[in-house]
Order: sequence, then C-alpha cells, then structure tokens
Amino acid sequence: MSVQTAKQVYNFNKLQKRLRRHVGEAIADFNMIEEGDKVMVCLSGGKDSYALLDILRNLQAHAPIRFDIVAVNLDQKQPGFPAHVLPAYLDELGVDYKIVEEDTYSIVKDKIPEGKTTCSLCSRLRRGILYRTATELGATKIALGHHRDDILETLLLNMFYGGTLKSMPPKLVSDDGKHVVIRPLAYCKEKDLVRYAEARAFPIIPCNLCGSQENLQRQAIKTMLQDWDKRFPGRIESMFRSLQNLVPSHLLDHRLFDFKGVDRDSGVIDGGDIAFDKPEVAPRFSVEDDDEPVAEPGERLQIIELK
Ligand code: SF4
Repeated sequence: MSVQTAKQVYNFNKLQKRLRRHVGEAIADFNMIEEGDKVMVCLSGGKDSYALLDILRNLQAHAPIRFDIVAVNLDQKQPGFPAHVLPAYLDELGVDYKIVEEDTYSIVKDKIPEGKTTCSLCSRLRRGILYRTATELGATKIALGHHRDDILETLLLNMFYGGTLKSMPPKLVSDDGKHVVIRPLAYCKEKDLVRYAEARAFPIIPCNLCGSQENLQRQAIKTMLQDWDKRFPGRIESMFRSLQNLVPSHLLDHRLFDFKGVDRDSGVIDGGDIAFDKPEVAPRFSVEDDDEPVAEPGERLQIIELK
C-alpha cells in the first residue's frame, strides 16, 4: 500500500468515525430512535440521504437497541430521472426498500406557470406522498437527510425573510400530526458529507432534472456561510452552538420570559443587565485543520459539550 493510499484510508476512517459520532450524539440527545422503531429513510439520490442511510445502517449493526430501516425513494417522473440507479444500489446493499412512483412532475408543470419557481409545490406533494407511504409501511419514524448547514441556512432565512427565530427541528411531529420526523444528520457538517459521498462513490442523482432554478435566497445564504467559514474559522461552529444555548431573558420574546414580572426581588438572572457596557464576546472557537473545533485556553469545559 502506498503512503498516499494509507493516508487516504486514515483520513476516510477519521471522517467516518466523526460522522458516526455526530449521528450517534444527535440520536441520543433528542431520543430520535428507540427500541423496536421502524425508521423510514427518505432517499432522494442526493449525497446527504445516501450518507444518512449508510451511517444509520452502520449504527444499526452496532447499536445496543434493535430497530429496522426501510429506504424509500419517490420517483417523481422528472424527465431524465435514472430510475434504475437507486434500485440497483439498494439491491446490492441488501436493504429493505420501496420505490414509490407518482407523476408529480406533470402536476407541477400543469399548475405552475412557466418561469415560476416549482420547488415549493413539488416538495409539498412529495411530503404528502412520503407521509402516506410511512403509514402504509408502518414506519414509526421518518428520517430526513438535513444537516447542520441546512439548519443554519434555514435559521438565517427565517430571520431575514420570516421574522422568526426558528430553524429545522431535530425531531418533531409532522404537520399532518401523524408521524415523528427526525434529522439524524443535524450535527454533521455539509463539507464532511461531501467528502464522505466522494469517498464512498455514491451514485448521486441531481435534484434539478426538472430544470427548476434552485432557491436563490437559500443559495445566497449558503454562499455567505461558506465564505464566513473560510475567512472566520470557528464562526459557523459558534453559530450552531448558539442554537443549543438560548438565553430568553436576553432576547425580546415576552412569551418566553416573564419580563413583566421582573422586579428588584427577582435577583440576578443569567448574568443580569450590564447597563451601558457592551457584552463581552470573547472568541470561543477555533478550528484545527478542517476537523473539530478546539478549545481556547480556559474554554475546555464548554468545548467538550460541543457537538
Ligand atoms: S429542483 Fe425540481 S425536483 Fe427538486 S424540488 Fe425543485 S421542482 Fe422538485
């Protein structure tokens, strides 16, 4: 084995271990998968859902609890969709799966005027079909392949355009009230998933066969976050960490914190108010090569908690 190959193998093992650890931690933190669950993994043919299936199968083999996995792909009949790719891949894996064929493409083309964005109707239709399929298969959880960067992009989109501080939930009941949806990749970085998909040579199918333009606002935010990640190492980790560290007394939602009830007897809450002084914001994260954030001196305890 050449030195180069040995290094590649070492790097891949490190990457795989990190992804498995992040998925394992997310599952544990949010109690995503329980004994006896039947987890329906939604497989689009994109890198994230391939990685999700791959890592969940790996964890399944080593988990102390027993759960089943069924992969589901929705063939939406977009022109050029390579319908043979996923069945061939899943047959080779030997995983239980179902391909659902529904011509949502024609419905979308019929309903949305030429030149308008098609993704929202397309994904709404897809959601309904996947919920129905989960019921038919007796799935107790629906697993989606959204990752850390999807969560941050959604947070910023909601702040910029929706006026809410909200992102994608790691685990929640679906909008039809019937299913529990989980996002086991919630702690995984997109760049890790890109490298993993390359190394595992997943047969990727693009989600733009229909010719629809990508969501431009989301794309702009993704580019901005990627730029920050290059120029300010640790910023993205810190942003993500902030989602796990809310301080309602220092925000402005009076439904979350009883500001009206505050009086001199309330005591000092969350560090109290520091009047005219600006809050000190010491950098808490730096990044060693492209791996894990490492602690600044004196920050070891907090960093250990970082996912
Ligand atoms: S890119 Fe095409 S297939 Fe993908 S969600 Fe948008 S409309 Fe649907």
